[in-house]
Amino acid sequence: MIALFGSGFSVPQALALDDRSVYDTGDMHGSIRLSPQYAEMLWSAGFHDIDSPNHTGLTPMMQSWYAANFEMVNWFMQKGVSGRSRHQDAPLYGLHLLAVRIAYPGAYFRHDSDLIDTDLALILNLQHDQTINHDGCVCICAPQGCTPASFLVKRVLRIYDKKLYALFPEWCEKTNPSAELLEHSAREYTRAWICRKMLLPHTCCVIGQKCEIMVQPQQPENSYEVLFIAKLFVEDYMRLYDRRRPEYGGPLENFPRLFIGEVESTSNGGFMTFPSISSMARL
Ligand SMILES: [Zn+2]
Ligand SMILES: [Zn+2]
Repeated sequence: MIALFGSGFSVPQALALDDRSVYDTGDMHGSIRLSPQYAEMLWSAGFHDIDSPNHTGLTPMMQSWYAANFEMVNWFMQKGVSGRSRHQDAPLYGLHLLAVRIAYPGAYFRHDSDLIDTDLALILNLQHDQTINHDGCVCICAPQGCTPASFLVKRVLRIYDKKLYALFPEWCEKTNPSAELLEHSAREYTRAWICRKMLLPHTCCVIGQKCEIMVQPQQPENSYEVLFIAKLFVEDYMRLYDRRRPEYGGPLENFPRLFIGEVESTSNGGFMTFPSISSMARL
């Protein structure tokens, strides 16, 4: 805006930006999109404020991740914005927001995550930096902090439940993780999925519709005792996961699905059950 005024333009009130960056494109459906061509025109016109967060705490670079707009992610990086940019209100990085988009493709991708093209070279580069994989949350679903894999499961709308099993293989296809990261992510994803199945209350962050960070409210029955028991159940599942994992020789991206399916099918055999939080409260 200052650039326009400085160039002698008068800007109609209706077009005032209200202090928002001209590069602000964050929206729930990923529909507001800039292209490098237009971004370059804006840059040439003097709009150099490319890294200020909007009211939800997202910088334009992070908004581009949220929209899975990799052309713009690359453009911002070429302009000097760091690949380690993160959400202002939580240590969430681009890969976390990409996971949210894959779990909820939105209108731009016609609610079909298959239509989301990713930039494997860019993602590979970032995945070398292991520190960007966990945020600062502590929750039963993610004791060392939320990961992109746990975000895949955390807030999937109910209509997508039937696709839950497919999200992890899709994530792997779109991010091509190293063997080590794949092993780690498969475990994190399984853990988050188990917590979802058990309808556990969370103490970790969720992303709201405008990509704002929210901490999930504590449930009334969310007492320390109930959470303690719930944690024991989850740890039992994860021990079972660790025992079965070496026996599995197929593609690892399919293991979480098979493992959860197998546990569910044995749940009536007395090995384990998925108690709801309220039934645990009665124990
Ligand atoms: Zn959680
Ligand atoms: Zn978190």
